[in-house]
Amino acid sequence: MAASLSLLPSTSTSSSSSSTSLHTRSSLNPSTPRLQSTGLRLPLRRLGFSSVSVDFARHVSSKIGVVGGKGVRGVVSMVKKSVGDLTSSDLKGKRVFVRADLNVPLDDNQNITDDTRIRAAIPTIKHLMANGAKVILSSHLGRPKGVTPKFSLKPLVPRLSELLGIEVVKADDCIGPDVEKLVASLPEGGVLLLENVRFYKEEEKNEPEFAKKLASLADLYVNDAFGTAHRAHASTEGVTKFLKPSVAGFLLQKELDYLVGAVSSPKRPFAAIVGGSKVSSKIGVIESLLEKCDILFLGGGMIFTFYKAQGLSVGSSLVEEDKLSLATTLLEKAKAKGVSIMLPTDVIIADKFAPDANSKVVPATEIPDGWMGLDIGPDSVKTFNAALDTTKTVIWNGPMGVFEFDKFAVGTESIAKKLAELSGKGVTTIIGGGDSVAAVEKVGVADVMSHISTGGGASLELLEGKELPGVLALEEAIPVAV
Ligand code: AMP
Repeated sequence: MAASLSLLPSTSTSSSSSSTSLHTRSSLNPSTPRLQSTGLRLPLRRLGFSSVSVDFARHVSSKIGVVGGKGVRGVVSMVKKSVGDLTSSDLKGKRVFVRADLNVPLDDNQNITDDTRIRAAIPTIKHLMANGAKVILSSHLGRPKGVTPKFSLKPLVPRLSELLGIEVVKADDCIGPDVEKLVASLPEGGVLLLENVRFYKEEEKNEPEFAKKLASLADLYVNDAFGTAHRAHASTEGVTKFLKPSVAGFLLQKELDYLVGAVSSPKRPFAAIVGGSKVSSKIGVIESLLEKCDILFLGGGMIFTFYKAQGLSVGSSLVEEDKLSLATTLLEKAKAKGVSIMLPTDVIIADKFAPDANSKVVPATEIPDGWMGLDIGPDSVKTFNAALDTTKTVIWNGPMGVFEFDKFAVGTESIAKKLAELSGKGVTTIIGGGDSVAAVEKVGVADVMSHISTGGGASLELLEGKELPGVLALEEAIPVAV
């Protein structure tokens, strides 16, 4: 397969006619020379980009022929046993230890300001209740140092009870004789909420004796806490040594379905959009996705390290000087693997890092001294959108610019809107945690995406191809044909 590596055709700020002709000249048209802007052509030639008239569409379609898409469930059914695989004969009368992530934000008056995590835990708990299990619910909240009343799980009880339609019982501890008594009096279909498991330092240290005490409360284990699945703690990993079976909850299962299943067997063309501040924090993700995707879009602060590595001037934009050769290596790797790398051709620059900075749009090749790039430009948005139109699966991690400042949020918000539109057309859209989730929520399109990851660190590690201890510890599912 022919390698392809491309920068996009750029808009010139000095010539509106050239800008128009570049926009109407589709970057996906095989017969069209891609780089008409002399501003880009020269530096790129100098950098060995002479064959950048990439036939993007042909490149991508050639991959479709080679790699057939697989259904998402088809992949994950072969990975971990799910709570959905447990029937009432497995569950009736059984004490089930459920580790959820109920780490919700509370205001100064202990009111829940966002109940997303509680709502996300409900399907697993309801499934267990409906099948006659006795649910022992465990979570952490905040970062307590020992027993800290402001990190008690007590304020969660009313909302949990409302959503579950029963009176949830609250324990004042998570281990010990009083808790054991409450468990013993729990009816089938009842729910007992244990106190913050991180009130014990043994939790994060994954001390076996503590894990054993937690496990002694129950007969079997369900992990639904995706946000902490990348940490081997007593309630996420330690307890699995004492409870059989140990299975994935519905929320954890969905995260695996998308972040592992859809990413390793995507419907193609498969695009990854990676942004954020630094290339150093996304190396693992980029390297891992380069193995799997057809197109890699880059945005955010990291692009300036790529530009500089290619000999472009980047003004006072964010650059990681010690990662310049890494950027070159990543571009070479992409080329060798036949992955199209899409770097923005124009950027919005600012005269200072502030929401009220003066700003203007310039080609990526013309960033003046003293100015910094804080967002991708309108031409890049158009070309990214056109390329995204050809895809069947898209995963997005990291903003395209400093989206916290409205003036530099347009690139990020445009991507969010584009992915929402594509979701409506049947494209699988996965928002891989962190700031990209905040962006889709800000735009109000979170509901339409195929999957919004609930775990920042955990989703990053999964995308890097790492195995999460909290997942690894769960029972394997029996492979089924789907
Ligand atoms: P990360 O945590 O690595 O995903 O990075 C997210 C952060 O990157 C956000 O806070 C953005 O404001 C920041 N960011 C995005 N683009 C830029 C840029 N061009 N310059 C500086 N910071 C940026």
